[in-house]
Amino acid sequence: MSLGIIGSNLWHATSKSLLKTNCLSKDKSVDVVVIGGGYTGVSCALRLAEKGSNVLLLEAEHIGEGGSGRNVGLVNSGLWMEPDKVEKLLGQAAGIKLNHMLARGPEFVFGNIEKYNIDCESTQTGTLHCAHSSKGLENLRERLRQYQLRGLSVDLLSKAETENKLGTPNYKGALHLKEAGTIQPLTYLRGLACAAVSAGASIHQMTPVTAIERNNETWEITTPEHNIKADAVILATNAYHQSLPISAAPIYTPVHYFQTATKPLDEALLKKIIPEQQGCWDTAMVMSSIRRDKAGRLILGAVGSLDMPSGYIHYNWAQQRLKKLYPYIGNVEFEHAWHGRIAYSNDHLPHIVEFGPNAFSIFGYSGRGIAPGTVFGSAAAEYMLSGDLSYLPIKPVRSYTERFTSIKGVFYEFGATAFHGSSRFF
Ligand SMILES: Cc1cc2nc3c(=O)[nH]c(=O)nc-3n(C[C@H](O)[C@H](O)[C@H](O)COP(=O)(O)OP(=O)(O)OC[C@H]3O[C@@H](n4cnc5c(N)ncnc54)[C@H](O)[C@@H]3O)c2cc1C
Repeated sequence: MSLGIIGSNLWHATSKSLLKTNCLSKDKSVDVVVIGGGYTGVSCALRLAEKGSNVLLLEAEHIGEGGSGRNVGLVNSGLWMEPDKVEKLLGQAAGIKLNHMLARGPEFVFGNIEKYNIDCESTQTGTLHCAHSSKGLENLRERLRQYQLRGLSVDLLSKAETENKLGTPNYKGALHLKEAGTIQPLTYLRGLACAAVSAGASIHQMTPVTAIERNNETWEITTPEHNIKADAVILATNAYHQSLPISAAPIYTPVHYFQTATKPLDEALLKKIIPEQQGCWDTAMVMSSIRRDKAGRLILGAVGSLDMPSGYIHYNWAQQRLKKLYPYIGNVEFEHAWHGRIAYSNDHLPHIVEFGPNAFSIFGYSGRGIAPGTVFGSAAAEYMLSGDLSYLPIKPVRSYTERFTSIKGVFYEFGATAFHGSSRFF
């Protein structure tokens, strides 16, 4: 077993960066400062620039350093939880609005890919939510009912149909969400960032924001070397927030998710294993996912951090799981293994905190952030420009807090490690 590959992120290895940015070289005054270069921040900057705003995006590391450069790449509609539950939690009107805006998320993402000509391995053959047990299948039947009620294009596949799509008899059935698909997540993000720069946004990488202050009706944003004055500020740092002590910093439970990728499989295997290239995930309590990339690598992921010592257990589980799902695959080693941090909120809903005049923090997508991040970022831009609250998918709050988030994070990791350590769950 080679653990030397841990930290090798496939998306970084296979994404061409066409993005050209320069260093922030002087103090500036702009309309809006966006902090954080993930889907939320970049989508916001893009929309603002297209509408003629003078917008500056500051990224502490590189574009895609956070969840947006590490995820599975499943472009799904809605949130993680069932739409009925969203309406129950938010109330009928607010829940319907959020469900409706996020139902159109994949259309928005694939529309961006087409509009900005982003070559990001996108597939639109749907995603498959796979039942790992009879109870899981029951949950999928209920989801089917709720999705159909809302007009989503979705089918419940039988066990045999699921086996045909995945190349493994391991699942009892699957929901086929036909409007969904997969992307190379980092390339999509970089493509959006290129579009933002073309539209006139300034993007500066390796530029952490260290302070935000309100002085004389202006926001003052501090980086290690410069000060920027702005009328508005968006904090889009989510689970990768750093260097900036501020009450509006994202509050969330950190949950890690790791992925391992094989070398490209040979043609005979590719004809059997997910031949239509749907992205797949399952109903298990400790969730796992499988998908392919364009080159034919099989990518297997699950909840857990690859940091040692539990990293060894997760990695070993992935190797055993691959053999259990695809016993005919032969002796295939992983070539990449990496993980990322998900910002889980207590209610599993995203949150917008309005921490001052024209100042917002957006976070907490709870593991479903490709389409939601793109939608929320763009919507925040529209709201900034118009002052019209109806653009926002959810109502902003003045402050947000959760308790015991670190302990809950340890609990999730402990549960995933115990699960992956048991051979019953290979
Ligand atoms: C392993 C994994 C798998 C996932 N799989 C899926 C999936 O298949 N489908 C899906 O829809 N969602 C998925 N998600 C969720 C999704 O990736 C995230 O919700 C989404 O990327 C969040 O985007 P964001 O822009 O809000 O934050 P991020 O992408 O995390 O970006 C935040 C950025 O802010 C920067 N930053 C932090 N502090 C500062 C500072 N002080 N100054 C300047 N910049 C700063 C960080 O460096 C980072 O680049 C997954 C997440 C993970 C981690």
